[in-house]
Amino acid sequence: MLKVSKFGGSSLASAEQVRRVCDIITADPARRLIVVSAPGKRHSQDIKVTDLLIAAASQRLTGKIGASECAEVIERYRSIASELELPSEVIEPIAQDLTERLENSTTDADLYMDTMKAGGEDNCARLIAQVLQARGVDAHYVNPKDAGLLLSDEPGNAQVLPEAYNRLRDLHERPGITIFPGFFGYSKKGNVVTFSRGGSDITGAILASAVRAEVYENFTDVDSVFAANPSIVKDPVPIAELTYREMRELSYAGFSVFHDEALEPVYRAHVPVNIRNTNNPKADGTLIVPNRTSTDIPVVGIAAMDRVCCLYLSKYLMNRQIGFGRRLLQILEAEDISFEHVPSGIDNMSVILREDNLSAAKEKRIVEKIRQTLAPEDIFVERRLSLIMVVGEGMRHTVGIASRATRALSGAEVNIEMINQGSNEVSMMFGIKSNDMETAVQALYAEFFG
Ligand code: ASP
Repeated sequence: MLKVSKFGGSSLASAEQVRRVCDIITADPARRLIVVSAPGKRHSQDIKVTDLLIAAASQRLTGKIGASECAEVIERYRSIASELELPSEVIEPIAQDLTERLENSTTDADLYMDTMKAGGEDNCARLIAQVLQARGVDAHYVNPKDAGLLLSDEPGNAQVLPEAYNRLRDLHERPGITIFPGFFGYSKKGNVVTFSRGGSDITGAILASAVRAEVYENFTDVDSVFAANPSIVKDPVPIAELTYREMRELSYAGFSVFHDEALEPVYRAHVPVNIRNTNNPKADGTLIVPNRTSTDIPVVGIAAMDRVCCLYLSKYLMNRQIGFGRRLLQILEAEDISFEHVPSGIDNMSVILREDNLSAAKEKRIVEKIRQTLAPEDIFVERRLSLIMVVGEGMRHTVGIASRATRALSGAEVNIEMINQGSNEVSMMFGIKSNDMETAVQALYAEFFG
């Protein structure tokens, strides 16, 4: 039996947390493949190691030195090692590695940045292996290059290459406990490349899929995934079990407990994911599975995504104009903007975008281009919108979910600007003004869980 267990930054932020992590690892002999993040925040004012490394790299890239940020990172490792009473030699190679990374050539800025960012996870994995060894455990650090984690050459946003899975399969034959650094791999050219932020979840998912793990345990700092954001709804109910599709919809719209890109590898290999709490390992957590056993629950969660905008255009007889939609989306593509949803009517189309992707200058260029090439009668951009997602596989077989949701929103005096339900019927989406976001989530939560 083999479990892949990933520990996030908050689980590794201090010596006390590291001690807990090591207790969890050694409590179950099936936990043989461990993925670690870089140390995260110890308290709300603290800075994550990855953010310190990014700050150090940015300093170097702008012609400054960055030494104080780098020294702070070294200090984080030193304090963990010394509190755990590891010999002082343990910290020397870590300090040397980080200093070398800082002093690397900055000619290729992207490569430089990714090499710096990867230093957080890489050194954390070395440290955890040593903490376990000091306890007499047969634990070994493995480098992602030696293990075969091949990624696309897209710094800061790399994707796994299909051939990586075969190479990584051998990991389950290694003796003892393997400690694998999360967040980065290597391109075919042999350069360090990182996933997007929070990407250690992705590393764990790739390994779990490659070795066909019995389960992928993802240890974080909450007891489970909750049915709504606890900062909007007081004490929301925990979700015991949900499907990959439900989790995908929820994480898309703001449930940040599990990286949305991490679902794909485990989904393809049918490996269940167990979200668990390092600070409360007795709790069962949330299980993400291919199919839910408890199908009597039509809605599992309510998610909300802020900072959305809508590009609206209308033109009489739009439905008869071949290629209208394609040309519209091509204009967005030329500006390097991906779209989220495209609700449409016979003579109008709305394109939902993330507000951060549409600067005022881009908006001006896009609107101008659309006017020239598509000659709409009306075109405008509405900003400060939110998308509310009501998520649940059970709604496919349940009559009246939409009417309950719209009634709850109208009861709370929230104006619905847009409704969209995907044909898979896993979620129902409502576009509303951002000012109403909290009220809408609370009203929907009360309707389906109250
Ligand atoms: N340390 C990286 C970050 O902060 C990756 C991770 O924690 O998963 O984004």
